[in-house]
Amino acid sequence: MDIKLKKKASPYGVKVPENKLSDKIPIEPAPLPDKVVIPLQQNIGAPCKATVKKGERVLVGQKIGDSDKFVSAPIHATVSGEVTGTKMVINPPTGQLVNALIITADGKDEWLELDVPQSPESLPVKELLTRIRGAGIVGLGGAAFPTQVKLSPPPDKPIDTVILNGCECEPYATSDHRVMLEYGEKMLRGLNIIRKILDPKAVYIAIEDNKEDAISHLEKLIANSEFRDDFKIVPLKSKYPMGAEKTLIKMLLGREVPIGKLPLDAGVVVHNASTAKAIYDAIYEGKPLIERVVTITGAVKQPKNLLTRFGTSIGSLINYCGSMNKGANKLIMGGPMMGIAQFDLDFPVVKGTNCLVVQESKLREEHDCIRCGKCIEVCPMGLMPTDLARYAKAGRYDECKEKYIDDCVECGACAFTCPANIPIVQYVKVAKKELAKGATR
Ligand code: SF4
Ligand code: SF4
Repeated sequence: MDIKLKKKASPYGVKVPENKLSDKIPIEPAPLPDKVVIPLQQNIGAPCKATVKKGERVLVGQKIGDSDKFVSAPIHATVSGEVTGTKMVINPPTGQLVNALIITADGKDEWLELDVPQSPESLPVKELLTRIRGAGIVGLGGAAFPTQVKLSPPPDKPIDTVILNGCECEPYATSDHRVMLEYGEKMLRGLNIIRKILDPKAVYIAIEDNKEDAISHLEKLIANSEFRDDFKIVPLKSKYPMGAEKTLIKMLLGREVPIGKLPLDAGVVVHNASTAKAIYDAIYEGKPLIERVVTITGAVKQPKNLLTRFGTSIGSLINYCGSMNKGANKLIMGGPMMGIAQFDLDFPVVKGTNCLVVQESKLREEHDCIRCGKCIEVCPMGLMPTDLARYAKAGRYDECKEKYIDDCVECGACAFTCPANIPIVQYVKVAKKELAKGATR
């Protein structure tokens, strides 16, 4: 198979200031929290029901929530201690209120005995999928889609290509970058598990060329491993949103994912670098997903990449980084392009939290559209962002639907480039929510 556009820049998207303040800072474990707040839904799909009760003692890695729905992922305790209550929190991927369990830590960090297979390499595919689901793994690039579902394409949709997404195109974020550098070998073994499950003809590792150290490190690891004939690294020109799945597939393979369809409709499955590392942990070490690397950056004293237990409050992580700089007034979970502003420092880190950016932000006044067409030029999905914003603002949601609003990946490239400061993505989000409720006008 040909790699058509290696090292070329996407004709779409925008060049954004990268601000990778923490890309040279090694991962360190965040302090163990005294208390965790663990939402019972941290993924796209069905929420979990609690499998433990108030007053119960739990161990690290013990399952505390699960669902019998196919598109779901169980949730595990991230500290040892006692379940002391519940509270309602917002689920970042869906924006809806979900129930969360509060666990007060006992400081012992006592783990459940892990079920480590004797010969991980020889586990059958069914067993691999069962273990990946059991570990609660979801896409760690931010989308939080249950991984075993993505690894179970329907039989009439054969997958010929797997792409490991190491682009991390969102400004500021460096968690995947550090995972590739510090856990590269484990990540490659996790990728090999993905390969074993999907049996594709080709496996590519896509990395933006602003991560030269990760590219050369992984090239060396692959050259000295049994994967040397199987995994190919493809450096891509850094341009936002190169890491969006459909952009990546187009740039790497020259394939279009049809409007309203998924990558698997183009014979491709894309997984994130940190997800592959989590698959390694689950299969080789029997570890459920209880922590991830989170970049804390922007207007903080000392940006860091912290290996953080889920349920840790975002405020405690910011304090650990020496607190916010004077004048900082905005906290974004995810990153400035696709992230979600947070208003509560008690909000917990969840599976989809790759980055927390503190900013000194000025209010930008929205003006009328001047029909310059810049937003259309940069949209990686070939949409008409100006129309989407106009219809959404007027509540004409059925017309948003006709303009393929469902295909908007909410990358924010249009809003970034708009000279009228129109918050296009916010309008899109509102329209999508209204459409999901069945509203048309
Ligand atoms: S319309 Fe959606 S996909 Fe297109 S640039 Fe704007 S946010 Fe990105
Ligand atoms: S970039 Fe902004 S001002 Fe220009 S057409 Fe798009 S919405 Fe209108």
